[in-house]
Amino acid sequence: MNYYSTEDRQLRRTLKEAVLEGLAPDGGLFMPESIPSLPKAQIQSFKSKTFLEIAREIALSLFHEDLPESEIMNITDSAINFDTPLVKVEEGIYTLELFHGPTLAFKDVGARFMARMMGHFTRGLAQEVNVLVATSGDTGSAVASGFWNVEGIQVYILYPSGGVSQLQEKQLTTLRGNITALEVSGTFDDCQRMVKSAFLDQDLTEKLILTSANSINLARLLPQSFYYFNAWARLPENHEFYVSVPSGNFGNLTAGLIAGKMGLPVKHYIVATNVNDVVPEYLETGKFRPRPSIPTIANAMDVGNPSNFARILDLYGHSHDAITAAMSAYSYNDDELRSTIGEVYLRTGYLLDPHGAAGYRALMAHTPREKGIPGVFLETAHPGKFSLTVEEVIQSTVEIPEQLQEASSKKKSSIGLTADFPDFKEYLLHL
Ligand SMILES: *Cc1c(COP(=O)(O)O)cnc(C)c1O
Repeated sequence: MNYYSTEDRQLRRTLKEAVLEGLAPDGGLFMPESIPSLPKAQIQSFKSKTFLEIAREIALSLFHEDLPESEIMNITDSAINFDTPLVKVEEGIYTLELFHGPTLAFKDVGARFMARMMGHFTRGLAQEVNVLVATSGDTGSAVASGFWNVEGIQVYILYPSGGVSQLQEKQLTTLRGNITALEVSGTFDDCQRMVKSAFLDQDLTEKLILTSANSINLARLLPQSFYYFNAWARLPENHEFYVSVPSGNFGNLTAGLIAGKMGLPVKHYIVATNVNDVVPEYLETGKFRPRPSIPTIANAMDVGNPSNFARILDLYGHSHDAITAAMSAYSYNDDELRSTIGEVYLRTGYLLDPHGAAGYRALMAHTPREKGIPGVFLETAHPGKFSLTVEEVIQSTVEIPEQLQEASSKKKSSIGLTADFPDFKEYLLHL
């Protein structure tokens, strides 16, 4: 199957090209030329299958034209090494816990899958492939962990010195092996600029194979559709459901929309954001006004120019009417997110993280919601990752999962760089 650019449908790439290029050369995002439609009986059969079994079947539908079946199974089995359980929070309301992977956030699913697919596509090359990533925190740790020990690939993570949490820094800097942490005396924007300059620098691109691993990569996006099917499969009910998605760059929501196009019976999508409400505003006014992001306690959703919006427009033929028919959006400030965490914990005993809190609250706020039709919100991170915020709200301590404790006890290893591109270039040329 070919993949086209959202900027120009005539610009087509194979799966391999699209995955290695990441972003289309015209600045567009790649989309599949056709989204496979799963037979009803197959979707029904998911009710008696595990998450991994479901993931394998969907991976096969998506990639069977481009990869041998045995390789699709290898990639999927190795990437999906944790569950995404559905947990009942109250009557008719469930959460899909996406935080049981190595870095305790949903990004593990896509990052692990992408790493293995890139590993497949670059196998047998004479040279190693160098993945360059700039991170302000969570993406970097999922990518680092996802690529760790994948053969033939070296990963360079640029992060702003003092600009990520202590725990995030540990997750980036303690893996070693094929993961190198570059600590930049500058901001996240500096890191991003340095990575962009590297891709455009002829000396570097002639000498090294460089690629990116950011969230717009298809190999990260498409596997995120797997767990939407798992959500439905684990519901006791056997009909449509509502799904609420805490959103920042809108990759997670886009994967859910793709699952719907594949046949998943989603009644309506509910979009939850923090005060970075560019997409809720678009739904209300039809105008898309990207702007600088505002810091919040749900910081993985602090996005002022959501990159996957281009894919959403594309999926609905740029029709505002079609988009508002499929989804509704709600946005919340930090006080509202905090009070939701406290209220739900007191009443049900379920502990939300700040992102999941937005998802829960938006689901409850969607009053056209029909009784008898279940609602699922995605829990995108473990509350222990945001222990400072959460503990302050519930006035007691939060259990920190083993994965986090392990990283925090290891010794940091990073290489310091200035925020000047020539410094970074020199480093890369002398690898
Ligand atoms: C990245 C992230 C989000 C936002 O996901 P998008 O796909 O960018 O919309 C939400 N919650 C957490 C915890 C995240 O890490």
